[in-house]
Amino acid sequence: TMSHSWGYGANNGPDTWAHGFPVANGSRQSPIDIVPGNASYDPQLKPLNLRYDPSTCLEILNNGHSFQVSFGDDTDSSTLTGGPISGTYRLKQFHFHWGACDDRGSEHTVNGTKYPAELHLVHWNTKYASFGDAVKQPDGLAVVGVFLKIGSENPNLQKLIDAFKAIRTANKQTTFADFNPATLLPGCLDYWTYPGSLTTPPLFESVTWIVCKEPISVSSAQMAKFRTLLFSAEGECECCMADNYRPPQPLKSRSVRASFK
Ligand SMILES: [Zn+2]
Repeated sequence: TMSHSWGYGANNGPDTWAHGFPVANGSRQSPIDIVPGNASYDPQLKPLNLRYDPSTCLEILNNGHSFQVSFGDDTDSSTLTGGPISGTYRLKQFHFHWGACDDRGSEHTVNGTKYPAELHLVHWNTKYASFGDAVKQPDGLAVVGVFLKIGSENPNLQKLIDAFKAIRTANKQTTFADFNPATLLPGCLDYWTYPGSLTTPPLFESVTWIVCKEPISVSSAQMAKFRTLLFSAEGECECCMADNYRPPQPLKSRSVRASFK
């Protein structure tokens, strides 16, 4: 077992996770490199139906690995249906992964191309009693991935960035109300989908991945503000939060389907 907690450093990063979490070498690990030429168009795949109620937005947290915005999930107020999944999945939280420079940071790649950041909207299957039950089931979670691409400043990211000063260090959180994550989705909801895993320990193989083809924009100055967050807690040596991504894992016997031709 590891004598220290997991992270993204040389001594506790993705290459070391298999020691404490052997499923890191499992058959359906994430992320992957998506090769569009090898994805098969599946006309059975339905459009994504994302219905989010801004009043379910609760708080923003620096968890020491990323920042995340969490949602009340006692009712079917903010849900994902359609797409590759059956039934109703409830939004639990969203978070991002990003690089130390604009030339890397996404977890999924497309034909080997890295984006500077990737948004993950995490939903759990309401056929289970709670997120905690669902996270261990093969059909427990559905995560929508959205790439960020350098371009014009994104006003919908600004409310998040403005909250960073209150959550600079690990374990800090503050209320974050009335935010609609649908404002972070691209205009086109064409997607790739494949069976995979959590990309952080415990790396459970419980995720139906839904990766949007179209990126959203972020300015280089906005990306620089992501890197003002810290992995470290208050009073510890300051360590900038960046390169908090796991690299692509082997596809093994899986196939990637596309919702579009
Ligand atoms: Zn993630």
